[in-house]
Amino acid sequence: MGLLSLGTPLDWHESKQHNEHVREHGIAQLINIFAQHSSRDDDRFLWGDEVEYMLVDVDDADHTAKLAIDYDHILDDLNDPTKAGPKAEAANVSFHPEYGRYMLEATPLRPYDGDCVADYVYIEENMEKRREVAESELPKNIVPLTITTFPRMGCPQFTSPPAKPIGPASQSLFLPDEIINRHARFPTLTANIRKRRGHKVAINLPMYPDQHTKLLDDSIPRDRGLFPSDAEPHLGASKPGHVYMDSMGFGMGSSCIQITMQAANIDEARYLYDALAPVTPIMLALSAAAPMFKGYLVNQDVRWNVICGAVDDRTFLERGVDPYPGYHLTGGMDIDPQRHLTKHATNHTINEYGDISNLKTNDGKPIQRIPKSRYGSIDQYLGDGAVTGYFRDDYNDINPPLNRKVLERLQQQSGFDKLLAQHFAHLFIRDPLVVFSERVNQDDTLDNDHFENLQSTNWQTLRFKPPALYPEGTDLTKVPGWRVEFRPMDLQLTDFENAAYSTFIVLLSKAILKFRPNLYLPISKIDTNMDWAHGVDSVIDQKFWFRSLRKWNLRNSDFIGYDLTWFDRYTNKGNDVAGYLNGYSRNGPVKEEASSTDEDGEVDTIVDDYDEVDSDGHEKRYTVAEIFNGTDKFPGLIKLAIKALATEVLPASEQGHCNCAKLEAQVVRIKYYLMLLSYRASGKIPTTAHWLRDHVTHHPDYRHDSKVSQTINYDLIKLAEAVTSYDKTALEPLLGDEITSFLTGGTSA
Ligand code: ADP
Ligand code: MG
Ligand code: MG
Ligand code: MG
Repeated sequence: MGLLSLGTPLDWHESKQHNEHVREHGIAQLINIFAQHSSRDDDRFLWGDEVEYMLVDVDDADHTAKLAIDYDHILDDLNDPTKAGPKAEAANVSFHPEYGRYMLEATPLRPYDGDCVADYVYIEENMEKRREVAESELPKNIVPLTITTFPRMGCPQFTSPPAKPIGPASQSLFLPDEIINRHARFPTLTANIRKRRGHKVAINLPMYPDQHTKLLDDSIPRDRGLFPSDAEPHLGASKPGHVYMDSMGFGMGSSCIQITMQAANIDEARYLYDALAPVTPIMLALSAAAPMFKGYLVNQDVRWNVICGAVDDRTFLERGVDPYPGYHLTGGMDIDPQRHLTKHATNHTINEYGDISNLKTNDGKPIQRIPKSRYGSIDQYLGDGAVTGYFRDDYNDINPPLNRKVLERLQQQSGFDKLLAQHFAHLFIRDPLVVFSERVNQDDTLDNDHFENLQSTNWQTLRFKPPALYPEGTDLTKVPGWRVEFRPMDLQLTDFENAAYSTFIVLLSKAILKFRPNLYLPISKIDTNMDWAHGVDSVIDQKFWFRSLRKWNLRNSDFIGYDLTWFDRYTNKGNDVAGYLNGYSRNGPVKEEASSTDEDGEVDTIVDDYDEVDSDGHEKRYTVAEIFNGTDKFPGLIKLAIKALATEVLPASEQGHCNCAKLEAQVVRIKYYLMLLSYRASGKIPTTAHWLRDHVTHHPDYRHDSKVSQTINYDLIKLAEAVTSYDKTALEPLLGDEITSFLTGGTSA
C-alpha cells in the first residue's frame, strides 16, 4: 500500500469536512514535488514487483480449505527487528499489510536493476524466498498461495476460525469484518466507502450458464434484519442471473501482481505510461486467473471489474442512476440532503468538466457525473513532452470529469502542461476516503501524505508515481524518481509464471524506451478492450483494438530473428554472430524492406496491409496472438522484448553469443518466461482461468449448476498447492510438456 499512516482514522461524517483541505494541500504538495524533481534526469532503470499472498488453512482430515484469518501477527513479526525482521532482510524481501487479514503483500526489499540481466531471473528466486520466509513463520497446514480469488470466499464457513458476517464496517451479508486487516485504516476505509456512497457496493457477475444452473443467487438471505442495508439486494442491488457481492473484500481481498519501473526522467515516464496503456487489456486477458467468485463459476475470467465495483464510492447521482426506493441520490456527501432532494438522477445538465449544474457540496465543490469507479482503467494519456511527438489530442477522447479548481491552479504553475494538469485534475475529483486526525495539518514542503491520500486511492490500470518530498540537501540521485506502475494483471500460481509476466513487462518497457514504438489508441478503445478482456477465454477468442500494426513507426526488418529462436542461436555455438546482431534471416542477410511513408509522415511497419481497416486506418482489431507473437510482416510485442534483451540488457561484451554458463542459464530461463506468454497468447497452453474452470466442470462432485462445493474448493486448493510446488502431473495440463519438462528437470533446454 502506498500509505499506511498511523493514528486515528476519522469516520466519514467527520472526515468529509476535511475533503477540500486535503485536496488543497495535496496539490500544494504536488507542486512542491514538481519543483523539487521535475528537472531530475538520468535516473537508473530500477524496477520491482508486488505479489499478494493468501494464507489458506488446509485441513486434510476434514477435506476443507479456508482462508486463515488469525495468522496476521506474522506480518508484524516479519517487520520486527527483534523477531523475524532480520530473516526477511537477509533474504532481500519485504512484507507489507494488505486489505485481507489473511493476506500478505511482499516485494523485494531493494528494487532490481533493469540493466542487469541476472535480475530478470533473480526476481523468481526472490519470490521463492518470500514463500520460504513466510512459510517458516507458519504451521504446516497454513499455506501461502498466490491465487487471484479464493473460490468460496463469501460462502458459509470460508474462514478459519469461523466468523459470522454480521460486522458493522462492511454490513455484508456474506463477508465477516474479521477478514479485514486489523489496522484501523482498513475497516474505516470499508465503512467510509459505504457511507459516502449512501448504500453498499453492489457487484453483479453473470453466472456461468451450465445445464442445471439456476439463474438466481440463492445465497442471498431473504429476511435478515440486522442492518437497514440488508434489504438492498431486494431493492434492486442484485440482478437476476448474476452472482451478487456486497462488500469491499470481494475485490480488495483478491490478489494481483504489480510492477513498478523507474524512468530516466519525467518525460520518459510519461511516454512509458502512454505506451503501456494499450497493452493493459491485452495483459489482463493473457493473465486471466479468476473464473470463480462466492462459490460460483462466473461467465468471465478475471477479477478486474469486481475490484472496480468493490471500492466504488460514487453516489447514485454521480453514477447517473435512480436511487433505490427510500434512498437519497447524493448518498453521504457533504451536502444538506433536504436542499437537493431530486427523484431522478438523469434530468440534470452537465458542463464540460462533468459538473452537475448548481449542485455543490458544503465546501463549494461541484457535484459531478462520474462515469468510472476510482478503481478503473486510466482516463487520459499524459503525453510525453518532446520525447516522441506522437501524441494527438483526439486520443484523449472520453472527456473524464475534472476538478476545475485544481486544473486552473496547476495550469498556472511551471512544470505542468495541459496534459499533466488534466491528469491530476481528474485524480482530484475524488474525496479522500480516510483522514487521520493527527495528520490533518502537514508541512507541505516536507510531507506528501495529502497528495498520496488521493493518488493512492485512484487505483487505475497504470499509476504515474511522482517522487516524494525530501529535506533540502538530500542527494536526489539516491531516492526514487519518476516511476510507472503496471497494475492490470491477475496473479499466477507459480513463482515461475509471476516472474515471467513481470520480466516480460519490464523487457517490453525497455524496448518501448529504446525503440520508441507509437502504440497510441484512443482511450475509448482501450476501455472497450478492458470490457472484452473480461470474457471467458478472451485471450484466444477475442479480437482487440490495437494500433494498426503498420503504424507503430518501426521497421519490421529491424526485428526479424528476434523471436524465441533467437535464444537458441545465442546460446548455441557456431552460429552466424553478425546475423542476429542486426536482425537475422533464415534466407541470408536481411534485405531492407521498401518502407513507405504515408500522408501523416509515419513510417509503415509493414508493406502489406491487413483487411480490417478502421475509418482512419490507425486502429484495427487483432487477436492477442497477432499483437503478442507478431507475424512475418510485423514484429509483435515479443520481438520488441527479445531485441531489448539482446541489445540493451545484455552487456556489450556478451552480445555476440553466449560464452558463459551462468549467463546461458539466465538467458534460457528468460526464454521459457517468454515462451509461457507466447504459448498462452496462441492458445497452445491454457490461461489459469481456463484450466481452473476445466477442473471444476470435470470434477466428480460438480452438478453442472455452476456451484463450487466445499469439496471442489478443497481439491482446487490442493491442486494449486501441487502446482505451486512444481508437481509434474499437476503442472503439465497448465503449462504444457515443454515448460513442465524444463521446470521439473525432464529435459534440458
Ligand atoms: P505501492 O504499493 O505504492 O505500489 P510498494 O512499495 O508496495 O508500492 O511497491 C513498489 C515496488 O517498487 C516494489 O517492488 C519496490 O521494490 C519497487 N521500487 C522501489 N524503489 C524503486 C525505484 N526507485 N524504481 C522502481 N521501482 C522501485
Ligand atoms: Mg497490494
Ligand atoms: Mg504495495
Ligand atoms: Mg502497487
